[in-house]
Amino acid sequence: MGVIQALPGTRDILPEKVSYWQWIESVARQILHRANYQEIRTPIFEATELFKRGIGEATDVVGKEMYTFNDKATPPRSVTLRPEGTAGVVRAFIERNLDAQSGVQRLWYTGPMFRYESPQAGRQRQFHQIGVEVLGSADPRADAEVIAIATDILQSLGLKNLRLDLNSVGNPEDRQNYRQALVDYLTPYKEELDPDSQNRLSRNPLRILDSKNQRTQEIARNAPSILDYLGTYSQQHFDRVQQLLTDLGIEYQINPRLVRGLDYYTHTAFEIQSDDLGAQATVCGGGRYDGLVGQLGGPDTPAVGWAIGIERLIMLLEELQSPPASTLDFYVVSRGEQAEAQALILAYKLRQSGFSVELDFSGSAFKKQFARADRSGAVACLILGEEEAASQSVKLKWMATREQQAIAQSELLQMQDELKRSILNLRA
Ligand code: ATP
Ligand code: MG
Repeated sequence: MGVIQALPGTRDILPEKVSYWQWIESVARQILHRANYQEIRTPIFEATELFKRGIGEATDVVGKEMYTFNDKATPPRSVTLRPEGTAGVVRAFIERNLDAQSGVQRLWYTGPMFRYESPQAGRQRQFHQIGVEVLGSADPRADAEVIAIATDILQSLGLKNLRLDLNSVGNPEDRQNYRQALVDYLTPYKEELDPDSQNRLSRNPLRILDSKNQRTQEIARNAPSILDYLGTYSQQHFDRVQQLLTDLGIEYQINPRLVRGLDYYTHTAFEIQSDDLGAQATVCGGGRYDGLVGQLGGPDTPAVGWAIGIERLIMLLEELQSPPASTLDFYVVSRGEQAEAQALILAYKLRQSGFSVELDFSGSAFKKQFARADRSGAVACLILGEEEAASQSVKLKWMATREQQAIAQSELLQMQDELKRSILNLRA
């Protein structure tokens, strides 16, 4: 029988890589906690209609990339694996009346997202995001705050060659005026555009600006700029966001061709790219979406947010550094029936006292167990042979110095504070 393999575009996150994930999660969690963002966990599948209305049928995500199927309900019900996090958060915000609870909701989430894309480096079918959504503020300070948090997370992980691209897509009225100017400019080039962009000319012409096709990009380079079509409010909002970023010491560059792929964005749009990542350079994308809550049937609520792609972030981190090393305190080796039982109990009690302890289960020769203790990265090794078992003692061996002493097991369990100090010193 053939071996069953993981589906294309999906990946196992193996133990050797998981430390990157935990590192990113803990750095992000800390930074978000300090800014008083609350975590929210929404379902991984939702009614298909939510994404159609919330993202827009003319987008690639909804038009081509969704995992959509009928579940077993009668009559049939169409459900979709979430392709992004915002729609579900907004659905929960409306359904659970989160707006009634406080003026502004600062939320964050993390988890898997699903898009039927062509798998390649940095592009998977199941991938993961960390995202934030601030609901209930139209203030440019909210835009600046979320951008600052994204920057902070990426910098705290040690990333340096980052570029923040900033744009405003105005409000729907500004965009309507711009749309006409863009179509007028592009129509004479219609035959030269890539087929996708030709299609979009009538359906979603703004999206043509972020086509990845080279000829289309050349044509788009001289297209009119949306920034020339912003109304007074949009212009003021955009100016203020820029001023605040400057005040915060965050560098950015204006990119009038930056239009997010999703229909609900208004005003601020931004992306954070890395020059170290090659083709899939964008690690974070976000912006303001003042129209979405209303579009999904909720009370008109301005909002702004972003999402970081975790796999792309890890690709960057791997180039730069390894995650913080493992932190095993004790590796316990034992041999002989009585010694093995005592070792199990000793390990259990040490863990209850707060130490991290790995017990060698192999029963193999001490020499082999010692070799594994060396590889484990433990600060100290605890050794129980027949002699120690008979006297209820244990040998404590510090790996760095190879110093070794015999002590009673009961005494070892009582010298917690001393052991913790020694371990800290040896790690430093
Ligand atoms: P792209 O233009 O690269 O397709 P996008 O505009 O579709 O990106 P968003 O919907 O804004 O991306 O998602 C935010 C982030 O999630 C992206 O910047 C990227 O880091 C990550 N991301 C999006 N799609 C994928 C994918 N298929 N595989 C891995 N990461 C992804
Ligand atoms: Mg995409």
